[in-house]
Parts: sequence; structure tokens; C-alpha cells
Amino acid sequence: MIEIRDITISADRQSVYLWVDPCYRKTAKIAGLGTRLIERLPNLRYHLCENFAGRMFVDELIDTETAHAFEHVLIELLGELDPKIEIIRAFTKWNWADYGRDVYVVEVFYLNISKFKKALKATNDLFRNLCP
Ligand SMILES: [Zn+2]
Repeated sequence: MIEIRDITISADRQSVYLWVDPCYRKTAKIAGLGTRLIERLPNLRYHLCENFAGRMFVDELIDTETAHAFEHVLIELLGELDPKIEIIRAFTKWNWADYGRDVYVVEVFYLNISKFKKALKATNDLFRNLCP
């Protein structure tokens, strides 16, 4: 339902090209996903989030792009691996004309590649377990 298609590294960020099955495009389509993510990663409650609705991430999580939830889980797991870092910025964008249909780009401003890959794998595994 989610597939990492590519990862690119630039001077200030790492970008993950994430294909999301259109059936699971929004978190509201995955029963209990938000609740289970909060149970597993309670600190998601405190994530700041800029979104069009102006909601806290914990409220946004109920019905947002699944790739956006993936982004927040990824930075939370990075925070667990690298607790000295206080803030990790990230955002999710999509432009299917450029990146391919149903492909989202999660950009994370964090440059420790080995920790990033570890957190990315853990995020991918978590979503695979939580989504049918
Ligand atoms: Zn957000």
C-alpha cells in the first residue's frame, strides 16, 4: 500500500519519493490508523504542523494524506534515534505531473544518512503493519 520509490540527498535535506495506493490516499480510509499511531508514538500529539486547516497534527491525523502521516512518523522516529536534535523540519508535497501519479515527496531537513535510513525503514515497517 506504500512503496518507497526513491531517495535523494541534497545539501540540506533528504527526499523520499513515496508511492501510496490510491485506496489509502487519506488516513481516514485506514480504520484506526490514527489511534494506533498515537498509541505507538504518543509524542505525535505534540507535533507542530502547518496545514491549510490550521489544526494541530493530532487533529489533522484523522483525515490527512497518508504520506503526511508518514512524514510525521518518520521525524518522530528520527527524534527517538537522535534525541539531541530538538527540531526536525519536514514537509510533504505532491505534483503528480512531475513525480508520477500517486507519488508524494517527503522532504526532511536532516542529514545523518545512517540514522535517516534506519528511521525510514522503521516507518515503512510500521505503516506496512498498520495498513492491510
Ligand atoms: Zn504536518
